[in-house]
Amino acid sequence: MSKAIVIGAGIAGIASAVRLALKGYQVDVYESNAYPGGKLSEFEQDGFRFDAGPSLFTMPQYVEELFKLAGELPQDYFQYEKLDEVCRYFWDDGTHLTAWADVEKFADEIAAKTTSKREEIFTFLAKSKQIYEITNHVFLEKSLHKLATFLNIPTLKSVLRLPKIDAFRSMAKANESFFSDKKMIQYANRYATYNGSNPYQAPATLNVIPHLEQHFGAYFPKKGMFDITLSLVNLAERLGVKFHYNSYVEQILVENKETKGIIINAKKHFADVVVSNMDVYFTYKNLLKDEKQPQQILKQERSSSALIFYWGVKKQFKELGLHNIFFSDDYQKEFNTIFKEKAVDDDPTVYINITSKLKADDAPEGCENWFTMINVPNNIGQDWDTLIAKAKLNIIKKLNKNLKINLDELIVTEAILDPRTIESKSFSYQGSLYGTSSNNQFAAFLRHANFSSKIKNLYFTGGSVHPGGGIPLALLSAKIVGEMIPSTS
Ligand code: FAD
Repeated sequence: MSKAIVIGAGIAGIASAVRLALKGYQVDVYESNAYPGGKLSEFEQDGFRFDAGPSLFTMPQYVEELFKLAGELPQDYFQYEKLDEVCRYFWDDGTHLTAWADVEKFADEIAAKTTSKREEIFTFLAKSKQIYEITNHVFLEKSLHKLATFLNIPTLKSVLRLPKIDAFRSMAKANESFFSDKKMIQYANRYATYNGSNPYQAPATLNVIPHLEQHFGAYFPKKGMFDITLSLVNLAERLGVKFHYNSYVEQILVENKETKGIIINAKKHFADVVVSNMDVYFTYKNLLKDEKQPQQILKQERSSSALIFYWGVKKQFKELGLHNIFFSDDYQKEFNTIFKEKAVDDDPTVYINITSKLKADDAPEGCENWFTMINVPNNIGQDWDTLIAKAKLNIIKKLNKNLKINLDELIVTEAILDPRTIESKSFSYQGSLYGTSSNNQFAAFLRHANFSSKIKNLYFTGGSVHPGGGIPLALLSAKIVGEMIPSTS
C-alpha cells in the first residue's frame, strides 16, 4: 500500500489526510502539539470554555464535502446552525448597528441608524457577488501554478472578465464609492482583516469577502468551533488515518530531488508522498535546510497577528451577541499603526466573541466567556509585554465607556494569546494569522504553490500557501493538494 505522511494536524493537514486516505493511501499525521487543530483548538479555564483561535465559521460546505466524499452524512457527525444575526457593531458615539443575515432587514437597519441609503448595501453586495463569480474558480479552487488551470473555457471566460475585479484601487477607495456614511465605509473596510490585510493598501478585489459572509452565511458549530477539528479527526480516523501527537518533524528526507519521508527524533519514517501543513516559511527554514530556498516568496510581507484576552466575565450582557465589534475612531490611523509602525494603536477596534450566548455551558451560570481580540502587527521582536499591558488598559477603557461598566471588577479569569505564542503554538512565522498579507494586487499569484517544483512528491497545504488563510481557504488548499496527488493503483 502506498504511504503518505502529513506534517501537522492543522485543519488543512487533517483535511488533506482525509482526502489521501480516500485515494487509497495509508496516512500518518505527525503533530507536534498534544492536540489536533493547530490554531483551531480550544481550552477550558475555571469553568469557562474558549475557542482558542477562529470564531467565525463561513462556507461550511467545504467541511461537509469531506464527509460526503467519504459516503457519510455530515449531519450525523457535525452539526451547525446558520446565524440570523451576523455581527453587532458599536461606535464610541453610541451608534449600534446589527448586521442581519437577511439583507432587506440589514438595509432597514442601515437606513435607520446611519446616513447611508438602503440601496447602498445592495450595490455593494452585488459587486461583491460579481467579484466572487469571476475569481472563485480561477483563484480559489485550483492551483495557479499549473497550466491546465487556465486551459479551459470557464477559466478563460473568467480571465477575460478580470478587469471587473477592481484590482487597481484600494478597498478603502472603492468603499468610499459604495457608501455615503463614514460608519458604513468602516464596516466595509473591516473585511480586509478577514485575511489579515490593510484596507488602505489591499486591492478592492478583497470586497469579495462580504459575499461569503452575507450571501453564503455565517454559522456556528453547535459544539463550538473546535468541533470542526474534532469531527474531521474522527472522520480521518474512521478512514484509517493514524495521528501521532507530540511528534515534531525535524526534517523532510530528500534524495535525488525526490522526497522519501521525514525524520522525527533522529528516526526515519518513509513515505511515497509528503504533505507539509507547517507554515511554508518554517518548512523551508527548519525541515528543508539543505534545499534551495524560494527567497522571494519567503520574504513576502506577513498578514497581521492578534492579541487576545480570554476573559471569564461574571455578568451577562443583553446588548451583546455572538460577534461584536467596537470600532476605533480613526480606522486609517489604526491600520497605519499596525502595518507601518508595527505597533499597537491606542484606540484599537475591539472584537468580542461570546460563544456562551449560543452554547450556555461554555460559561458558569450568570457569566459569559469573552474572546476579546484586537488586530496587532506580526512579531518582529517588539516589546510585547509592555504593548500587551498598555493594550489591556486601552481595551478596558473603551469597553467601559461603551457598555457603561467597570470591567476590571467583572473579570474572574484571564488567559492571553499574543503573536509570540501564536508562533510557538502553531509554527506560524511571526505569529501571522493568515500567512502572507494581501496588501498588493499580485498577492494571489505570489503565494507558494501547493507542490514543490524542485522536489518530487512534496506538497504544501494550509493558510500560508495558495489560496491563503482562513478556514475555508485552508480547506481549499487541502482540496487542491488532494486532487493533485494521484490515486494509488
Ligand atoms: P495551523 O492551524 O497553523 O496548524 C498547523 C499545525 O501544524 C499545528 O498544529 C502545528 O503544531 C503543526 N506543525 C507545524 N510544524 C510541525 C512540525 N514540524 N511537526 C509536527 N507538527 C507541526 N479563520 C477563519 O476562517 N475564521 C476566523 O474567525 C479566524 N480567526 C482567527 C483568529 C485567530 C486568533 C487565529 C490564530 C486564526 C484565525 N483564523 C480564522 C485563521 C485560521 O485559524 C487559520 O487560517 C487556519 O486554522 C489555518 O489552518 P492550517 O491548516 O494552515 O494550520
